[in-house]
Amino acid sequence: MPDSFDLLKAAYDPENFRTLGHQLIDQLADQLQQMLEGRESGTPAIPWAAPNEAFEYWSKARWDGDPMQLLKAVAEKSVHIHHPRYMGHQLSPSTPLAALAGLVNDFVNNGMGVYEMGIPGSTLERVVVKSVAKQASMPANADGFLTSGGTLANLTALLAARAHYTTVWQDGAGQPLALMVSEEAHYCVDRAVRIMGWGEGGIIKVPVNEQYEMRTDLLPEYLARAKASGRQVIAVVGSACTTSTGSFDDLHAIADFCQANQLWMHVDGAHGAAHIYSEKYHHLVAGLERADTVVMDFHKMLLTPSITTALLFRKGQRSYQTFAQRAQYLWEREEDADWFNLAKRTFECTKSMLSLRAYCNLAVYGSEFFDAYVTRVVERGRELAALVEAHPDFELAVAPRTNIVCFRYRNPNIPEEQRSTHNEAIRKVMTEVGKFYIVKTVLRGQTYLRTTLTNPFTERTDLEALLAEIEQTGQRTAGILMQEFSSDAL
Ligand SMILES: *Cc1c(COP(=O)(O)O)cnc(C)c1O
Repeated sequence: MPDSFDLLKAAYDPENFRTLGHQLIDQLADQLQQMLEGRESGTPAIPWAAPNEAFEYWSKARWDGDPMQLLKAVAEKSVHIHHPRYMGHQLSPSTPLAALAGLVNDFVNNGMGVYEMGIPGSTLERVVVKSVAKQASMPANADGFLTSGGTLANLTALLAARAHYTTVWQDGAGQPLALMVSEEAHYCVDRAVRIMGWGEGGIIKVPVNEQYEMRTDLLPEYLARAKASGRQVIAVVGSACTTSTGSFDDLHAIADFCQANQLWMHVDGAHGAAHIYSEKYHHLVAGLERADTVVMDFHKMLLTPSITTALLFRKGQRSYQTFAQRAQYLWEREEDADWFNLAKRTFECTKSMLSLRAYCNLAVYGSEFFDAYVTRVVERGRELAALVEAHPDFELAVAPRTNIVCFRYRNPNIPEEQRSTHNEAIRKVMTEVGKFYIVKTVLRGQTYLRTTLTNPFTERTDLEALLAEIEQTGQRTAGILMQEFSSDAL
């Protein structure tokens, strides 16, 4: 029986670490190679297991003191974002370099709340944020920080807006507040409103046009109505882009409206703010530089592991007001602001060293690397849309602006009112088969298949193969569905 201190010593043995580390990197490099060649080798993009089956496996698994087997099993049984036929949720395949940076982050385990607990990480965070603000064409005094995800970043930005217009932070609830946002916005905006205690009436949903973009022409009318009902509107949130369809609100129109009415302009660019890196498609987010706050996820379109999100403030000083315990003028001068003590401004106390992974990509490959990637995946989206349109049995939901493409299969034997059920069945079967990974969304009450073309190695042949697979699956499931309908009718 080893004594208990021996157990601790073994866990920290540098030679064990070296050996396991070498094995692990070999294993992951092999897996990367296998995934990149997944098209030819037939490796599934998602190794599907039903939840109960997975629980059975993981609760019974024994690794007999061999951590390599455990790590290998996790890597192999996870959804493979490096596979060119992964076209599902918006995460991007991490660069191997950024993944290695993640290992360093986990190893040093710096807490990042105060400067001493992460000197390189806190400093690099400022370097990254300043560089993003510059890329976004914001003024030199723009600033911000990195935080744990778009959801938390949106809440933090809205808390900053509230701190700017009200004294709720000190005094508690006052006049009922509200913001305006398109009805297609990410659900986290709704959630933020409710967390802030504004209730259902605090989120004023502005209708969208045919392209799922905010009807900015309706803003004056909605603002007047809110005022008449006793609500103080403090902000307008633009989506750049929406999650479901990748639609971009007209940010200049929102900026003009906010300026005229002294409202806070926030841009939820969790997915799409990354277009600032594309010379060709930067125009999709024109006007973003006029926003008071902007959220941008590095993990959606910038090849960085989750979870890494930038929250930018056009007037950097305002980032210090959000959680200030006392009066807002506390850190009026930049030198008082302690940019290096990050927890003053973030929701998190302890936080991961978010800067390093993003910084590695930026510093080693440069912004032209992000340009190449963003431009490429946006064009893949347009290519898929063209293939969908050319096919008589497919229907595009909306012409895509970015790498998010929604469409549906229209089998001639399936009645119109069963289309949604049929496309849901197709997506379910395809996930279980696992050759492709795609998701779905509901638009105007109808289910569509939804793809995010996130892998830079996805080729036209993968897109053609995707449509062929959907069609085949659609034909097979159509027969089963038709039987069900006729037995229902009996
Ligand atoms: C993904 C997304 C979010 C949520 O971001 P997380 O990083 O997943 O928390 C918010 N808004 C939009 C528009 C998104 O696409």
